[in-house]
Amino acid sequence: MLREFFAYYRPHRALFLVDFGCAVLSGLLELGFPMAVKAFVDLLLPRGDWPLILLAGLALLVVYAINSGLMAIVTYWGHRLGINIETEMRRRAFDHLQKLSFRFYDEQKTGHLVARVTKDLEEIGEVAHHGPEDLFIAIMTFIGAFLLMLYVHPQLALITALIVPLAGFVVARYGALMAQNWRRQFGRVGAFNARLEENIGGMRVVQAFANEAHERALFAGDNQRYRTTKLEAYRIMAASQAINYLGMRMVQLAVMLAGTYYVVQGSLSVGGFVGFLLLVGVFYRPLDKIANVIETYPKGIAGFQRYQELLATEPDIADVPDAIEAPPLKGDIRFEGVGFGYAKERPVLSGIDLSVAAGETVAFVGPSGAGKTTLLSLLPRFYEVDAGRITVDGHDIRALTLASLRRQIGIVQQDVFLFAGTIRENIAYGRLDASEAEITEAARRARLETMIADLPAGLDTVIGERGVKLSGGQKQRLAIARIFLKNPPILILDEATSALDTETEAAIQQSLTELAEGRTTLVIAHRLATIRHADRIVVVTQAGIAEQGRHEELLRADGPYRALHEAQVAPLRQAMGTA
Ligand code: ADP
Ligand code: MG
Repeated sequence: MLREFFAYYRPHRALFLVDFGCAVLSGLLELGFPMAVKAFVDLLLPRGDWPLILLAGLALLVVYAINSGLMAIVTYWGHRLGINIETEMRRRAFDHLQKLSFRFYDEQKTGHLVARVTKDLEEIGEVAHHGPEDLFIAIMTFIGAFLLMLYVHPQLALITALIVPLAGFVVARYGALMAQNWRRQFGRVGAFNARLEENIGGMRVVQAFANEAHERALFAGDNQRYRTTKLEAYRIMAASQAINYLGMRMVQLAVMLAGTYYVVQGSLSVGGFVGFLLLVGVFYRPLDKIANVIETYPKGIAGFQRYQELLATEPDIADVPDAIEAPPLKGDIRFEGVGFGYAKERPVLSGIDLSVAAGETVAFVGPSGAGKTTLLSLLPRFYEVDAGRITVDGHDIRALTLASLRRQIGIVQQDVFLFAGTIRENIAYGRLDASEAEITEAARRARLETMIADLPAGLDTVIGERGVKLSGGQKQRLAIARIFLKNPPILILDEATSALDTETEAAIQQSLTELAEGRTTLVIAHRLATIRHADRIVVVTQAGIAEQGRHEELLRADGPYRALHEAQVAPLRQAMGTA
């Protein structure tokens, strides 16, 4: 754990040494100060030599100036070290998130993931900077101050040391309690974020169901639990501060009384007395720092553990070591004995055999939940087959790099995800290096041009989060433009128009037909009317592929397709009074 943590220091070795060196030097200067005061009171003061006194003052001023510079370096460069490490970790966490598969995201709450990349890592930067440094300086000043106290007056030093076990106990106990508390706080913040994220994301549903009171109650619960955890932290803090303060003042009092006695008795000089009192302060200060380290260390480590956990999540779908770049594909697709289930014990698909010729349009129909979407999501390797294989132009898709495979597959779904940005940015997402002319052309082919022309800002119109400012049809057209730009040889249309009204559907259907031209197209359709001209129709049921053929053939065969067809057509006929 620690070794892995310190590995992050490696690229910043120079920075660490500068910071650490300055911190040690500054600590030593702080230790020297009480001794300087002692010398001043014992040696200079009685002599009353003003030029010398002023000179000594000047010398101290120089030392202070140097120390303030050192402290500034430690604060800036030390935190710089911390934020460098934090930034690197955040970069890696984000990189890793890009690699994790659909299966991972199926199980995760967005809020928790967001917390891992933001809040969790925030503490690590602080620990990376303060942890090793503070601990070292604290121990150094602690021992240094004690040695100096022994040197100034051994008995007095021992009296001071008497309190150390108590203080040590308080500090250790405080640290341990706070560490537990911090772990709870992390959990609470995660829960909190997850709730918030879901609430805001689902605000339209919340308001449509008028369930605000229910949401308020749920959130109030999380909010209160966070508060309770915080209150507990403040109680621990208050108690330990009070005890520490009292302990320190008691030591000072003891030193004052005993010191006075020793001064009167003659075994301690007045300068020694003053210097000693200052040393007690120096001696005590590290306790705060140690408490701080004990507190923040677990905080950072808890974050670091969660970060490590995330990085340790192996992407279950990744390029094999000898993966090859897919050549430009024609789109000859074969499913051979394909089996798949989201959970091993509950297969969704088994023994699926199917060939699709390059350029062919194949439609998939069948009852909801039969596994159509699942089947087609295996082709871009969003999920990995459990049995059998899928080939494209004879290549097992697992032998190709993910990127080169996915670049050649275009997908339009019912539920289009658009990014909060402009129309231009969303179209260009299809191919990030597209030229202006190509973007305009894609918009034209998706029949977006009149809409864009009507907008004052045109292509630069901002469409809101997830494209909320667009109609369903417009969103779908944007999704289509994106694919025109991408221009892949293979196209997957998953109920792309199911959510639209019939008129819009018919219009968009035309664009989709154009989009499908010259590509291998796999289309899932709910409304059979939209696919009757497909080269082939495949009927998928829970049992697998039930039958396949052209529309007329399947009608004649009088199987499940005909039943589906009747179910859709009969109510229409009835409605139109032609039954
Ligand atoms: P279709 O597209 O034919 O309506 P799906 O392929 O979406 O059917 O779903 C097939 C089965 O797989 C259903 O029982 C569904 O509940 C299940 N399923 C779909 N997606 C997931 C998922 N991400 N995790 C677990 N089960 C899923
Ligand atoms: Mg589906």
